[in-house]
Amino acid sequence: RAARADALLEGLNPPQREAVLHHGSPLLIVAGAGSGKTRVLTHRIAHQLATGRVRPSEVLAITFTNKAAAEMRERVADLVGSAARAMWVSTFHSACVRILRREHAAVGLRSSFSIYDAADSQRLITLVTRELDLDTKKFPAKGLASRISALKDELVDPEAYARSGDADDVLASVYARYQDRLRQASAVDFDDLIMRTVQLLQAHPGVAEHYRRRFRSILVDEYQDTNHAQYVLVRELTGHGDVREDAVPRAELTVVGDADQSIYAFRGATIRNILEFEADYPDARTILLEQNYRSTQTILSAANAVISHNPGRKPKRLWTDAGAGAKIVGYVADNEHEEARFVAQEIDRLGDDDGVRPGDVAVFYRTNAQSRALEEVLIRVGLPYKVVGGTRFYERREIKDAVAYLRAIANPDDDVNLRRVLNVPKRGIGDRSEAMLAAFAERERISVGAALERVEEAPGIGSRGVTQLQGFRELMTGLRELAAGGAGPAEVLGAVLDRTGYLAELRASDDPQDASRVENLAELHAVATEFEQAEPDGDLADFLERVSLVADADQIPAEDVADGAAEGGPREDQGVVTLMTLHTAKGLEFPVVFVTGWEDGTFPHMRSLADPDQLAEERRLAYVGLTRARRRLYISRAAVRTAWGAPNEFPASRFLADVPDELVDWRRRESSMAALRAGGSGWGGGASAWGRGGGGYRRDDDGGSVIGSGRPPRRADADRSGGTPPRTARGSSSPKASAPIPTLAVGDRVTHDSYGMGRVVALEGSGPNAVAKVEFGTHGTKRLLLRYSPVTKL
Ligand code: ATP
Ligand code: MG
Repeated sequence: RAARADALLEGLNPPQREAVLHHGSPLLIVAGAGSGKTRVLTHRIAHQLATGRVRPSEVLAITFTNKAAAEMRERVADLVGSAARAMWVSTFHSACVRILRREHAAVGLRSSFSIYDAADSQRLITLVTRELDLDTKKFPAKGLASRISALKDELVDPEAYARSGDADDVLASVYARYQDRLRQASAVDFDDLIMRTVQLLQAHPGVAEHYRRRFRSILVDEYQDTNHAQYVLVRELTGHGDVREDAVPRAELTVVGDADQSIYAFRGATIRNILEFEADYPDARTILLEQNYRSTQTILSAANAVISHNPGRKPKRLWTDAGAGAKIVGYVADNEHEEARFVAQEIDRLGDDDGVRPGDVAVFYRTNAQSRALEEVLIRVGLPYKVVGGTRFYERREIKDAVAYLRAIANPDDDVNLRRVLNVPKRGIGDRSEAMLAAFAERERISVGAALERVEEAPGIGSRGVTQLQGFRELMTGLRELAAGGAGPAEVLGAVLDRTGYLAELRASDDPQDASRVENLAELHAVATEFEQAEPDGDLADFLERVSLVADADQIPAEDVADGAAEGGPREDQGVVTLMTLHTAKGLEFPVVFVTGWEDGTFPHMRSLADPDQLAEERRLAYVGLTRARRRLYISRAAVRTAWGAPNEFPASRFLADVPDELVDWRRRESSMAALRAGGSGWGGGASAWGRGGGGYRRDDDGGSVIGSGRPPRRADADRSGGTPPRTARGSSSPKASAPIPTLAVGDRVTHDSYGMGRVVALEGSGPNAVAKVEFGTHGTKRLLLRYSPVTKL
């Protein structure tokens, strides 16, 4: 045992080792990016287990994303084996779900309570504002939702808010009613998960004591991004607030973070939690880590130079012995398309010259919308890529409908979801019947679901309406019986799609979009089947919980990362290029990183320019972005970028001026916009010509190529944006239902509007019934009815 514990100290430097060994008082590890904070956390858990000081079931490790949690669990499992399974390694939200599921009775929730995501909660707020006769234009749900969310982050409940001196009447009444409605529906929103768990622990000392006995080691990664509610939660769980003589001994608390990487202040995170840790936990031990193991000196120097301009920060020494490494490559593009082309060209070149695989590369940008131009070019040149955190699968309409059914089945009082599907697909239940039913529920102080059970008593609903509602009730009862009888989530989902007629309606439609909706639903069914296989004991509520908690960063399947590639198509071992926002990149590392869009107004973001606090946060975001790179770093900007629907000239990001010039090899400094405007060729005399069609493909003075499309191409326009694409000749115009069916052969490479690049592995049927089986790498293999599927042969 001792030998095994000692082995865990190998490969750690002295302060890291000290951090792993420390025990007996709270431990704070503060250090810059890439200094091994997360690694220390993992080793510390393994060491605590190996020495027998802590049992696996006594570990609670909190990470920022579910993906990070999975990685940490895996790393600990590598170190200690299958015992790792009993640990709780999860996000704050997942941990709170688990606690609330167990203690649901104490907080007055059903065990199968629903978890509303942002869209659900906005829907409910809209319902509430209507009920309160408020003007939804004047009080948009989105704004109210974010203010309510901010109050919950501060643990201010509706009563406390109403009592506070400066409460806004509208917000106070919406908040109070919204919470009532959630309670009635036995639902919680994301912020409630934390707030209600804190309330539970504070109101029920017995429950608090149970968890304090249970968790003997609590560890929190990325502590700089915790908000007040999470801070209090940790305090409640460790028992550090409990000063009674006979209190449960306090748990070991370990937090790691970097104040320079705090990038979630807009969501209520407060660096205060890290800055004042020593004051809050007087016997705390602080350990600093100064050696960076991730990046080259050049990358580190650039990141340090940028962050050093933030006011009021503690200067840090961060060094590496990795050597200077390659210079940072800088590039000033004429516009976002040319910037994207540069990125693609470099990835390609690095592959040829340096053996860099697509999976080694990440491209970051400030806002999701920026991915579009990059995607266009990557598709064009045939580089496989993956957008992390874009339009999310679970936000698609058909997926939300299907999940709403499942939620309404699991929780009959879940009115938001019940009402979402009441007339979907259309079954003749009119707005009036729905309103009458809701009014009846209101009067009886019961949920709409419960009112449905007594629809015959509800006044004002015509006999046709009653019949329809009864039909819906029978449908739901049947589905609930199926679920209660032990059917797994996949079977229940299948029954929903069949019995409601949802699938049949989509299948009967001529709209190609409906065909892809069918594919998406098939995908959801596959997710449910996978879940059943992974968790044979899991029920519908467990599945829904999983669905609710998929965070943005979870969308990087392991196989997308080159190292994780084990099986699959020919490309899989190469991985795919990862596109993601800077926020999503937190905690990750890649051999090659492109940080794009260094323009004042893009990055730093327009809305931060006038606010020093927000500007400081943008600068921390820059620090996070730069420090993700291990070997090679690219920084680029576009002189003209189309934002808010119009092309705008943007000045260079103020952050660029802080990167020491000797670290950067500027491949192209000046935009050739001025020259272009003077010449007038292609651009028709300036940015205003974007509105016109046409344009062409031409070479600029550097020998690089510019996609001179007349307008920013949407994906469907990619083929028509003129000229010859750089490397791969592309097929016909964008596919529509009426478009000719592409003639394909096994082995052909194709692109699909949603799945990206793929390879045909089999063909069935012919003419209008031709079906191709296409391997889409990370999206798996799809059967596509070619008549409807947006596939283009490459
Ligand atoms: P971030 O602030 O970005 O979250 P971090 O401080 O959590 O970074 P890690 O991700 O733990 O840093 O480590 C960065 C990289 O350095 C990882 O690849 C890790 O394996 C490696 N590393 C950390 N410590 C050592 C060490 N002592 N020897 C070798 N490699 C190390
Ligand atoms: Mg980390």
